Order: sequence, then structure tokens, then C-alpha cells
Amino acid sequence: METILLLAHVEAGGSLAKSAREALHAARVLNKAITGSNLFVALVGESVQAAADSIAACPATKYFGVVGAEFAQSRYSTDAAAAESLCKAAQATLVVAPATSRWNRVLPGVAQRLGGRVDSHVTGISDAGGKPAVNRWYYRQRMEAALTRTQRPWFILIDPGSQAACDCGAGAAAVELVAVNPAQAGQRTTVLGIREPKADAQTIRPDAPLLFVTGAGWTKKQADGRTRVAEAEKLILDFLKVTRASLGSSKSLVDLGGEGQAVLPFLSHLNQIGQTGATPRHAKGLSTCCHGEEPHTVGWRFIGERRAISLDPNCGWARGKADVLYVADAFAVVAKVNELLAASPAPAPGV
Ligand SMILES: Cc1cc2nc3c(=O)[nH]c(=O)nc-3n(C[C@H](O)[C@H](O)[C@H](O)COP(=O)(O)OP(=O)(O)OC[C@H]3O[C@@H](n4cnc5c(N)ncnc54)[C@H](O)[C@@H]3O)c2cc1C
Repeated sequence: METILLLAHVEAGGSLAKSAREALHAARVLNKAITGSNLFVALVGESVQAAADSIAACPATKYFGVVGAEFAQSRYSTDAAAAESLCKAAQATLVVAPATSRWNRVLPGVAQRLGGRVDSHVTGISDAGGKPAVNRWYYRQRMEAALTRTQRPWFILIDPGSQAACDCGAGAAAVELVAVNPAQAGQRTTVLGIREPKADAQTIRPDAPLLFVTGAGWTKKQADGRTRVAEAEKLILDFLKVTRASLGSSKSLVDLGGEGQAVLPFLSHLNQIGQTGATPRHAKGLSTCCHGEEPHTVGWRFIGERRAISLDPNCGWARGKADVLYVADAFAVVAKVNELLAASPAPAPGV
């Protein structure tokens, strides 16, 4: 009989992140598909009661927790020891966890300790003739595979944004606390704090409905023979301000900075979309001043509706990679869109 364990870490304030609720949704899909399976929840953090209570109306029948100040921060030794103890306490055969950076680096090692197997970047759960199967993409999101495994425990890391978040309500959960062997939970690493960009400098917004992508065209000589980088910068920042879109870039544009050319200062390689960049998930995407070449557009795999603005009617977007291509000057189009959005009484975020 399969025992499915949702394994999550709680956030700094004691809540559960959306990615944890998405993993819970996936665990529930498995639970429904496998007749007679158990669904349990295991949480790690300084305190887990509030997080457990927040999902207490879900069909899980047992809750386990590892708690303590040493489990508040991400640290390999304490996280691995906590996850190992929880999996043993629950006697889990299928461990479903959100693919956060914290779990991604720890759970493959835990799978090894427990003699199990792990699959990362899982984007779907399916039924392969009565057996649980997971879906994931290969070769930079060009091919999708469905996998089954006989080895247990099987750790399944669910990519954030790939599932609906479980909307089960709150209640009172009886959490069984699990002790961790202190010898295993060594603490040679001390977390001193977190350095992160200021909120207004943070242009990558995974939860935004719209992805706005800039290409090298913004920095190229325009019809009048001049570059217009300062104007491009203002147009792009104004657009982001009114739409709260997430900002992506082509590789060429972020590479230009390393080559000492005039570029947009708020872009880094973290914004790059594509084969050697990110594959974000957004309902809509708008590409501007970008050619739409294959290595770039593989990063658009999980964008629901794709539109592009380019001067070149023969670019990659025109050859079937965009749902709608506007053959137009992006400077003029974005200036007009910004003007309309600013005049609109309540600009909808991510329009
Ligand atoms: C192994 C490998 C991996 C790669 N990985 C990635 C990756 O992960 N991500 C990525 O992005 N690329 C990647 N590339 C590079 C990719 O192939 C392209 O070279 C790159 O994406 C092109 O960037 P671009 O469209 O911004 O620039 P360009 O090719 O220079 O195109 C600029 C476009 O802007 C348009 N334009 C100019 N002015 C205007 C205007 N006023 N209005 C509207 N349009 C205008 C032009 O018509 C042109 O189409 C990879 C390449 C290789 C070989």
C-alpha cells in the first residue's frame, strides 16, 4: 500500500507558501488515483502548528512536524536530517515536495540515504495503467516524458507554478512531533542573514500574469541612425510600473553588458529567457525588439499566450512562434500603451 507524504518547509512567518499548496494538490491527485493509499503531511520549521492548521481541512489523515529554531533557516545538514526523520516516521513510499531551492538541494541526498529515488522538475502527475506516473520535460523543455518507478521511497519534486494550488481550508491539526538525531543535524553553517535586491529593483515576478521580454533591438541603431537607450529604459520601466509584469530578456541583450556596450542597467542574466536561461510560467507574454530564435523561444514553453513586437516580418516569431506578431516599432507601440494605461482609471495588473 502506498503512503503519500506531502513534505514542506514553512515560511519565515510560519505560513505555507503557494508552492507547498501546489505540491499538496499533486499529492492529493496521487492519493485519489491510488486506491487505498494514505495521505500524510510533514512540515519543517521553527514552528509548524499554524501552517498545519491552515490546511487542516484537507483529506490528510496524519500530520508530522520537526520543529525548532535550528530548522527555521535553510541549511543542508538540518534540513536533510529533518526530512529523513519525517519520511521514516511516516513510513512514506511516495514523498511529494515543492521544488523550492531549499528542497531541491536536500531531497536528492535524502533519497540516497533512504535507498530511494528522486525526480526533480516534475510538472504533472498522471496515471499509467493504475500506477502513479510523473511528467517532466527534457532537453530544455523540448520533450515531455511520463515516468513510473518501482523503487520506494520515491521523492517527487513539483515545479512551482505547474499545479493548481490546493484551496483546502483551515482547521485544527493534531501534529505529531518527530525528534531528529542531534548528531545528524550538525550546524557548522550559521545563517547570518539574507541579502536581496530592494523591492523596486526586483523585476522578476514569478506570480505576475504577464511576462514582458526585451531584446537587443532596444539598444540598436534606429531608423534615424541613433541608439535610444535612455528612452528605451524609461519606456520599459514605465511599462513595468503600470502593469507589474515580470521582466525577461533575450541572451543577446544581457550579454551586451558584459561586452561593455550601452545596455539597460536593470537587466542581469537572471532575466534571461531560453535554452540557457529560465523557463518561467505566465498566462501571457509580450516580446519586444527580439528576433524570436529557437534557443530563445524554448524558454517560452510555459507561456499561455505569446505576442511579439518586431520590425522584422520574417523573424522567428513570424514563423509560428508567436500567436500574434505586431510588425511595428516597439518604441512607438510601448509609448502609446503606456499612455493608454496611465490614462485608464484602474490599470489592471498584467494586462
Ligand atoms: C547554445 C545557444 C544557447 C542560446 N541560449 C539562448 C537563451 O537562453 N536565450 C536567448 O535569448 N538566446 C539564446 N541564444 C541566442 C539566440 O540564438 C539569439 O541570438 C538571441 O536570442 C537574439 O537576441 P535578440 O533577438 O535580442 O537580438 P537580435 O537577434 O539582434 O534581434 C533584435 C531584433 O530587434 C528588432 N528591432 C530592432 N529595433 C526595433 C524596434 N524599434 N521595434 C521593434 N523591433 C525592433 C530587429 O528587427 C530584430 O529582430 C542561444 C544561442 C546558442 C547558440
